Amino acid sequence: MIPLSIPIEVDGQQEPHVIRLNTDFGRRESPQDTYLIDVDGTRTVFRDVSGHTIVFEGLDPFSSDGDVLLIVPEQKIGNRVVRARATDNTLTFTERCDQRCIMCSQPPSIGHRDETAMLRQIALLAPPNAILGISGGEPTLYKKSLFNFLNYVLEVRNDITFHILSNGQHFCKSDVDVLRKLPSSNVTWGIPIYAAENKLHDEIVRKSGSFKNLCSSLEILCRSGASIELRTVVMAQNIDYFDNLSQFITTNTPFVARWAIMQLEKAGFAASSWSELFVDTSNRFSEIGNAADMTQARGLSVLLYNFPLCTVPPGYRSLAPATISDWKQRFLPVCSHCTVSSVCCGFFEWYPDTEGFRGVQAL
Ligand code: SF4
Repeated sequence: MIPLSIPIEVDGQQEPHVIRLNTDFGRRESPQDTYLIDVDGTRTVFRDVSGHTIVFEGLDPFSSDGDVLLIVPEQKIGNRVVRARATDNTLTFTERCDQRCIMCSQPPSIGHRDETAMLRQIALLAPPNAILGISGGEPTLYKKSLFNFLNYVLEVRNDITFHILSNGQHFCKSDVDVLRKLPSSNVTWGIPIYAAENKLHDEIVRKSGSFKNLCSSLEILCRSGASIELRTVVMAQNIDYFDNLSQFITTNTPFVARWAIMQLEKAGFAASSWSELFVDTSNRFSEIGNAADMTQARGLSVLLYNFPLCTVPPGYRSLAPATISDWKQRFLPVCSHCTVSSVCCGFFEWYPDTEGFRGVQAL
């Protein structure tokens, strides 16, 4: 597992602040750049433009060159929010949410601190052509701040692509003009739909009226020309209804860019309910396969996220990209003999070996 929080000692600014690590003293690009001045065993020393130092414990400065960190002196922690070498990074917009999805891997909290100014700085310091995820909580609870943030960053950095995870509960007619101004080539909305039956969807997200709001939000996003990825986590609760869901998506939302069918992550609420939620799709794939076939036959793209390749029948493996982020990805001993490990998503760091897929085998 790649550590995202690094122990630090700071002798300068004591407020939380954003920096970028720079190992090349000759490369001066931003006031937030801090420069490598010393490496002493496991301790690495950087100096900011005011001459103050930050000492990192256990950070490899060269593989972290260009990383953007949120420094929290009070907690003696530097959070690597954007890793320059990672293919995707995620910014948390808020930890509040108005749903309590039964499988949520990042359960929400009640409080909210507006950190938009800091997030703006972080995004502007990201490497060229960065792909930044925005998640929560539910970012659109603070829609005005979110839209301002996106407009501001894309005005300055139109090379950045945002993928925003939203529960699709809060879009309304008055958002259409703002949404239309966000280029669909730079902004994709990842919206979850768990069933085509409103009662079942509402039960899964534990919010009454959620399905109705979702349909209305999808209509607004469609009218705005937004790029949308629908997302469905496979669970014991919805696997029997994938046919209906495929039918619903292809009939009512043919405008979406793709449908992502996702395997479960054992974290958050899913950690305590794993045995009630997890479906071993290595020995029960027909519902997923039929839904994928039907959806593709009707012209919509389907992808399988977080599915290890050996757990998917050969004909569907091309739909399963390596989606698990490197910092939380791991492989099992059997994977060391596998010829496709370089293109397989592997497993989440917290995957339960004894309660997971029975069909894992080297290919
Ligand atoms: S054995 Fe491991 S690397 Fe190979 S397909 Fe299965 S999970 Fe992926």
